[in-house]
Amino acid sequence: MKVFDVAIIGGGVIGSSIAFELAAEKLNVVLLDREEPGRGASWAAAGMLSPAPDSPDALPLVPLAKHSLKLYRKFVAAIEEASGLHTHFASDGALQLFPGPQGEAERDKMVAELRALDIAIEPVSLDDARRMENAIGPAARAAAWLPGEATVEPRLLMDALLAALRHREVEIRSGCHVTSLLHQATRCTGLVAGGEEIAANFVVLAAGCYSSTLGAENSIENDWLSRCAPTRPVRGQMLALHSDKVILQRVLRSERGYLVPRLGGRIVAGSTLEEVGFDKRVTAGGMRKILDAAIELAPNLSGAEIVETWAGLRPATPDNLPILGPADIENVFIATGHYRNGILLAPVTAKIARDWILTKSMAAGAAIFSPLRFAERDVQVSNSKRNAANS
Ligand SMILES: Cc1cc2nc3c(=O)[nH]c(=O)nc-3n(C[C@H](O)[C@H](O)[C@H](O)COP(=O)(O)OP(=O)(O)OC[C@H]3O[C@@H](n4cnc5c(N)ncnc54)[C@H](O)[C@@H]3O)c2cc1C
Repeated sequence: MKVFDVAIIGGGVIGSSIAFELAAEKLNVVLLDREEPGRGASWAAAGMLSPAPDSPDALPLVPLAKHSLKLYRKFVAAIEEASGLHTHFASDGALQLFPGPQGEAERDKMVAELRALDIAIEPVSLDDARRMENAIGPAARAAAWLPGEATVEPRLLMDALLAALRHREVEIRSGCHVTSLLHQATRCTGLVAGGEEIAANFVVLAAGCYSSTLGAENSIENDWLSRCAPTRPVRGQMLALHSDKVILQRVLRSERGYLVPRLGGRIVAGSTLEEVGFDKRVTAGGMRKILDAAIELAPNLSGAEIVETWAGLRPATPDNLPILGPADIENVFIATGHYRNGILLAPVTAKIARDWILTKSMAAGAAIFSPLRFAERDVQVSNSKRNAANS
């Protein structure tokens, strides 16, 4: 039987980026996806590359996010060179608008918080903001400029990544549903996909929000996955607009929503955060929320044509931080749970996974994302419950 160096479960931006790095090291890689690779959350994303935390929960992610943003230019250049395709990477910054009555105070708070995290941000007057983006509407009470932020077009990135993988001779198998891992004692020796056994020295689990659902009900895998890869889906709805009256150069956003310019005058507007399980439907309420925020940011969009609507499932985790690192089954690396930041975090995730597979060492600072943290927490919680009961 052929033995691959690495078998990767999931052909989204995470699995594909890892495959890209490993193939550069001349490893023999197979990438398995139960559907078409690149059509999951990675296809649905807005493509903002922003290391600014969107909540206090996301603070531990900031160093990793900043590192990944620094890697981005080289990462896309390598993909574009290998594939001959463009990813529409643009480092044009972002404008954050504050529409509430306390707009200026909110802006000053954000400026202080992001500067403390060493993220570039400047307060700007509304006149200056409108000189940068004349579509900004009257609701804005204050503005801030984030010059370090960038964007990429996720669908083009996925097309280019997959073409680059073919160029680097990665074997891509679509419609290939992985259902279990192969074991010899505590060591993983491959996996089962579509009933076929595939032997591999390493297995990478990168199945996005489906990572926790790999095993059959009541299987050993299921128990293991709920400990090491407890992902859940969080729906995000999106829509695309086209208007001759609104031309954006860069990301415009507020606490309520965002607008991201794309090629050909297309503007992507998002999004919702919904805990509705594995349901990818687009709803009237979701569209209304996004359109309200979009039209508040740029009122001329009220006459825009809605050219597309869609929804995707973000891979979230119990602490909403990614899961990155070796599991307690030898030769398995987990790279999932990137929640709202998988496009941004793809380059650094790929580098961490590659380094672990080549040297079995984890980057300093990545230990907090270990798949074992959930099991350790369970032990801590049950120990403290036991201590409380004994006291
Ligand atoms: C609306 C929305 C907006 C977003 N905006 C941004 C943004 O602006 N910036 C940003 O950085 N991130 C953003 N994200 C988040 C980002 O899209 C995700 O974090 C990222 O795409 C996750 O990538 P992934 O490869 O882990 O998952 P996915 O892209 O979902 O890929 C997982 C793949 O695994 C496959 N798979 C699942 N189970 C199996 C199995 N058993 N066997 C084989 N294959 C399997 C699936 O078919 C799928 O192709 C957004 C997400 C959404 C939904």
